[in-house]
Amino acid sequence: MGRRKTVFVDSDVLVIGGGMGGCGATYESRYWGRDLKIVCVEKANIERSGAVAQGLYAINCYMGMQWDENKPEDHVRYARNDLMGLVREDLGYDIARHVDASVHQFEEWGLPMMRDPKTGRYQREGKWQIMIHGESYKPIVAEAARKAATEIYNRIMVTHLLMDKQRPKRVAGAVGFNVRTGEFYVFRAKAVIVAAGGASHIYKPRSVGEGMGRTWYAPWSSASAYALPIQVGAKMTQMENRIVLTRFKDGYGPVGAYFLHLKTYTQNAYGEEYESKWQDHTRQLVGDYVDHHPVPTCLRNHAFLEEVKAGRGPIRMVTKEAFQDPHKETVGWENFLGMTIGQAVVWASQNIDPKHTNPELTTSEPYVMGSHATCSGAWASGPEDCAPAEYQWGYNRMMTVEGLFGAGDTIGGSAHKFSSGSFTEGRIAGKAAVKYVNDLGKEQPQASDAEIADLKKTVYQPMDTYQIYRNEIVAGTVSPSYLLPIHGLQRLEKLMDEYVGGISAHYMTNEPLLSRALELLGMLKEDLAHIGAEDLHQLQRAWELQHRVLASECVTQHTLFRKETRWPGYYYRGDHPKLDDKDWHCFTLSRYDRDSGKWEMEKAPVHHIID
Ligand SMILES: Cc1cc2nc3c(=O)[nH]c(=O)nc-3n(C[C@H](O)[C@H](O)[C@H](O)COP(=O)(O)OP(=O)(O)OC[C@H]3O[C@@H](n4cnc5c(N)ncnc54)[C@H](O)[C@@H]3O)c2cc1C
Repeated sequence: MGRRKTVFVDSDVLVIGGGMGGCGATYESRYWGRDLKIVCVEKANIERSGAVAQGLYAINCYMGMQWDENKPEDHVRYARNDLMGLVREDLGYDIARHVDASVHQFEEWGLPMMRDPKTGRYQREGKWQIMIHGESYKPIVAEAARKAATEIYNRIMVTHLLMDKQRPKRVAGAVGFNVRTGEFYVFRAKAVIVAAGGASHIYKPRSVGEGMGRTWYAPWSSASAYALPIQVGAKMTQMENRIVLTRFKDGYGPVGAYFLHLKTYTQNAYGEEYESKWQDHTRQLVGDYVDHHPVPTCLRNHAFLEEVKAGRGPIRMVTKEAFQDPHKETVGWENFLGMTIGQAVVWASQNIDPKHTNPELTTSEPYVMGSHATCSGAWASGPEDCAPAEYQWGYNRMMTVEGLFGAGDTIGGSAHKFSSGSFTEGRIAGKAAVKYVNDLGKEQPQASDAEIADLKKTVYQPMDTYQIYRNEIVAGTVSPSYLLPIHGLQRLEKLMDEYVGGISAHYMTNEPLLSRALELLGMLKEDLAHIGAEDLHQLQRAWELQHRVLASECVTQHTLFRKETRWPGYYYRGDHPKLDDKDWHCFTLSRYDRDSGKWEMEKAPVHHIID
């Protein structure tokens, strides 16, 4: 450990994660903080990192205010309905009113937008989505961040945040290691913005073994966005609101363009429409939410799942009709070739030509994220001009830890921001972080040298463990003295799957199962002290696992706390099968105390600021 060089980097604003939120934060911090030192640190390379890495075919959050297409208030209503009534309307409104400007910037920077030949407007895929030629979406956005940043550090995985030694509730920076050179990095900063994406691989995926990298959410989204704030006591919200997606089977190809643009539809194995069949049954569980338009995403999953459980699966997407039109056929294939190439490859390899065969759909394993049709993440202060007093304790997008901000999947309560909204939220957080830094004046948070030295030892411990105990075995990977990251990951995925409502339990859980999950997670956490890492790559896997485990514990605590089934189709509490607006029309909040290892749970009110 002592052999490893330590590199110190000082900055005013430190951005952790250079995906959509992080690029937005970096860009905007420079705009408001011309003379400040803005540093962005990314565990991959911002050129192609994050959930947008391989490109997108649509920008899913665009109001179109220049053409009077939608108003920000409409988007708040839409997100609120989709989340069964529970969203932070202040945060959603704040993004919606600024998101169009971000999209216009993308176009200025060279992103090719599709336009409607008749109207000249952006080509709509749906009410909120516009179509793009998006293979290079991420490189284009990354270029803007690169030009704005004082320094970008690629290939550094951030493992822990640093706290101020004078004021322990104030952030002072972060530490991590270079996944290629192994150098230890200490980033000292006045303000920190976490934008480290969502979480895949906390639940057992449908594809295991050789196919385990195949998940819908990016396999490298390893829950750092949640674990980093949780470790330092930031409050989290709606972590039980994990997402399950209906997607094309085995390749996870998105269905949005198919439903919205190509006007394809679904049917059961016998060619029957099935959603309407489940309407009465669903109404008994959730009341009239099932009659709302559009039907909330989770309830559409619910009908799908019930139909499959009734033995009438698989559910298929009817593509045969639409694909007779050569234009639609081209759009259908291009949709995947520009965004989810794996789906096109799966179809080719399984002899599925959607012109002649209606492809199967399936529901994914759960993921944790804050930017899609769910809103898990950190509890953040809202915008000054429209957040109710209870949602305002400081700067916009500041968490409950001083100087710690967030954007994108990191921030909870504000669903449906997607790529453009995450970038926009990054901009909002960047602007607020600069104001915070300016208000600090000459004051400078200080991390303690002892804490830095301790963290350095902790970060490399898995490599030391491996080196010492490898000698106890002569072959193979099973050791009496350590477990490898893959072993820990598979243990985590299995227990989350079986006890916290994964695919093999049909997303069902209850109090006894959740309580047992917490016991098993406790044992897993004990064993993580004995994790071994053979090389730097495995060291990264080890820290990703640590982050995933902490986030999973948080998900389990929240799921236990909310005694209702608010989102059937995402998960079910068998002991509380119905939606309960009387007691649970509220946010759930958690706070972790790293000294005691205990969680505190509380409710927070949902304020409706839009009628
Ligand atoms: C399959 C898929 C399809 C999608 N389709 C669309 C679509 O069609 N249209 C649309 O608008 N949106 C779409 N989205 C949503 C969009 O991609 C996300 O909303 C957006 O990327 C979230 O931004 P973010 O900054 O929170 O996370 P990301 O963009 O994922 O960025 C997180 C970054 O943090 C880095 N990181 C993580 N941990 C660490 C760490 N410990 N240290 C340093 N760096 C770290 C990651 O490498 C990554 O670069 C899709 C997402 C997925 C997964």
